Amino acid sequence: MTPDELAEQFELYVDQLGDKLSVALIAAYEQWRAGTLTTAEFEQVFIQMVGTMNAYARTGADWLGSIYLASTPKGTTLVTVASETARLADAAATLVALLDTADDLKTQLDRIGHNEPTEAAQQQLVHTYRGHGAHGYRRRLNAGACELCTWLVKAHLDPEGIGYVYPTGKSFHRHTGCRCTPVPATRIERTAA
Ligand SMILES: [Zn+2]
Repeated sequence: MTPDELAEQFELYVDQLGDKLSVALIAAYEQWRAGTLTTAEFEQVFIQMVGTMNAYARTGADWLGSIYLASTPKGTTLVTVASETARLADAAATLVALLDTADDLKTQLDRIGHNEPTEAAQQQLVHTYRGHGAHGYRRRLNAGACELCTWLVKAHLDPEGIGYVYPTGKSFHRHTGCRCTPVPATRIERTAA
């Protein structure tokens, strides 16, 4: 697998999970509007669905990162997410406070639905690389990458001119909506832009 193929597979994977989660979150919101779900139930459904999809994202990213490094998934390298339920509960509480008033709630749910599994998968990839003994990774931009992400590549700081090698001990710099792919810097990438 080349770095380009890794990035392509990664984006495909997180986009699929993001699409599914967004649809599910918006469906739950529609049920709340129809009175089928209470506010408390909506909150619980939100926490459950996002948490579950993030877990899928981590498992898939662990597998993908392991395949890229040509070793087998270790199964024990998943990111620890003890605080995730509390974080999602906060997000759910914030959303619920907006249920009656926000007219762009679907847009927000769509953004959260795409962002959450992508972030989980990005952090997992870096964690998996580290678990497999890779010390550094580079940032590979997604097609519509913003100026911040372009700057974060820091190609001028890399002797090979591809991108700065970030230590796998630090988590991935990102912003909401970022779909860039961390790629292990374990081999020289001759063909990279
Ligand atoms: Zn990005």
